[in-house]
Amino acid sequence: MEDCIFCKIINGEIPSEKVYEDDEVLAFKDIHPAAPIHILVIPKKHIENLLEVTDEDNYLIGKIYKTINVIAGNLGIEKDGFRVIVNCGKDAGQEVMHLHFHLLAGRKMGPKIVK
Ligand code: AMP
Ligand code: ZN
Repeated sequence: MEDCIFCKIINGEIPSEKVYEDDEVLAFKDIHPAAPIHILVIPKKHIENLLEVTDEDNYLIGKIYKTINVIAGNLGIEKDGFRVIVNCGKDAGQEVMHLHFHLLAGRKMGPKIVK
């Protein structure tokens, strides 16, 4: 998608600190970390948000969670735990209209989430 910053990160137009990549999923460090570890896990397919997910994406969404599991193992955070957040729409404060899963770790999470 033109003008989508995460699509630009996927195609290399905008740099990112990648922590995982395969044909369908990319994970990179959030530029404004809300925790010592703050990774964004995204599908390479441009999907605006959870409301745009269809049955066609069932495999992809499952794979994203499995990838988060793998990244947690790679980062060594599986023992202490982590939080996964998806913001959808205005009231959730979604800023980037390309589906993304925030993976937060490295501190005790309070009741307040990402922002
Ligand atoms: P959300 O508010 O759920 O849409 O989250 C968007 C996230 O993308 C925010 O946490 C931003 O800090 C992050 N972000 C925006 N631009 C970039 C970028 N170029 N590289 C890494 N993270 C970014
Ligand atoms: Zn996009």
